[in-house]
Amino acid sequence: MTTRPAPVILWFRRDLRLSDNPALNHAAETGAPVIPVYIHDGGPVQDRAGGASLWWLDKSLRALEDSLEARGSRLILRSGDSETELRRLIDQTGATAVFMNRRFEPELFARDADIAHALKAEDIEVRGWNGSLMCRPGAVLNGAGQPYKVFTPFMKALLNIAEPPPHTTGPRAIETPNGLASEALDDWSLHPTRPDWSTGFDWTPGEAGASEALSRFIADGLKAYSRDRDFPAATGCSRLSPHLHFGEIHPWRAIERVRAVADAGKVPQAEAEKFVAELGWRDFSAHLLHHFPQITDTAFRPEYDQMPWRDDEAGLQAWQRGLTGYPIVDAGMRQLWTTGWMHNRVRMIVASFLVKDLLIDWRRGEAWFRDTLVDADLASNVQNWQWVAGSGADASPYFRVFNPVTQGTKFDAKGQYVRRWVPEIAALPDKWLHAPWTAPPEILRGVGLRLGHDYPHPIVDHSEARDRALEALRMVTVSRYDDRGH
Ligand code: FAD
Repeated sequence: MTTRPAPVILWFRRDLRLSDNPALNHAAETGAPVIPVYIHDGGPVQDRAGGASLWWLDKSLRALEDSLEARGSRLILRSGDSETELRRLIDQTGATAVFMNRRFEPELFARDADIAHALKAEDIEVRGWNGSLMCRPGAVLNGAGQPYKVFTPFMKALLNIAEPPPHTTGPRAIETPNGLASEALDDWSLHPTRPDWSTGFDWTPGEAGASEALSRFIADGLKAYSRDRDFPAATGCSRLSPHLHFGEIHPWRAIERVRAVADAGKVPQAEAEKFVAELGWRDFSAHLLHHFPQITDTAFRPEYDQMPWRDDEAGLQAWQRGLTGYPIVDAGMRQLWTTGWMHNRVRMIVASFLVKDLLIDWRRGEAWFRDTLVDADLASNVQNWQWVAGSGADASPYFRVFNPVTQGTKFDAKGQYVRRWVPEIAALPDKWLHAPWTAPPEILRGVGLRLGHDYPHPIVDHSEARDRALEALRMVTVSRYDDRGH
């Protein structure tokens, strides 16, 4: 008589899908019953998920529950400290293994290593895979065995060593023991109430939603991606970022589908490779965070921590609410608040405005994005904020200060984006749309716009603010010079 193998716990993390899921595939290969669990961790080391992320998590878990049920299984929900909950589940089921796709944020990675160590000491097999990035952080090193600090050589090396996994759809049926207690998603209150500020969120979280978003992008945006991705009113980018963050699609699967369209001659190869390169920035961010975990809180270039940041609560609030008086900045901040997402070009503009025009610490902006973005991702958010602030590894130089008016006229020339998100100035002719304060009084009167009443005057003068930012930079770089005794 053969004895049934003991169950394997499949610990879902940011890999909320059944296809291309290494931990699931390996669990299925054991032939043992599989216990899929998601733990909403209330322990000391936590995912730094903000409100918009929790909204997404709620919907994505519901989609995962449905997918598992369609394969005869069931998602077990537990809340509490991860190690305590895993142990409880092991005691309840006699499971002898825990399989997971790793999280690579340094604090979570270290915490998971501790859990693995403790469980292995009790003869529980604990195994982890990379199910979220093109390449495991730590794997891409230069000839001297050091981490790359510049994107282009990093990406080249990554593409040289990466081994794209074959596409898998996961087991058709997943056997899960009956009778296991699970909490109810509704009790976790992840969806905001009182008030429900998510009514403008127009997304379909989950694996099917991710695949549809990619199909839409392939049909509409891919053919001119490298040009259109910069124009916020166009459908030029994929909007895959929250799906990727929650692991609803594997990046290699997205690449495989995009490259297949280029290989079939339907779009230029260069467009597909531009998309691959953008995905590469996601890996580069994770790679930097892995090697330099301090960058969540301190500047990669330490001299930038001497910047004389201003304590300007009124400025911060005007920025958060989209009331700075600069239409492209306000449009971006309102798109973010209303939809949980902002176009990349506009993210760069609003971030530059906060850090340079308002001289407010990038960490304040990073925290706001973390709370309001559905794609909020510790590595990508921190890396991009430091890129804009000039303090990052492969960063935009601090002295390059985005002019919000020029950016608006260049990337939203016809004003579709600004008119959509800042309707109070929509009637202004294009010529003045990105700088309403320059419109002659008769034009303002003609469209019934009272600046300072219907829409704010600019909260700073850009050219004065630019000079102030450059002076601050000069002080920082000069003091670095002095510190070194020159
Ligand atoms: P596409 O243009 O279709 O790109 C495809 C994918 O490539 C994206 O989904 C994303 O996963 C990746 N990608 C593209 N650009 C970048 C980039 N600069 N850095 C890292 N990955 C990139 N992205 C996040 O996913 N989470 C964040 O928290 C985040 N914070 C940001 C903060 C600032 C200040 C800035 C300037 C950018 C930030 N980004 C962040 C990067 C970028 O803006 C978004 O990834 C992109 O806008 C998502 O839209 P998309 O999926 O249509 O992108």
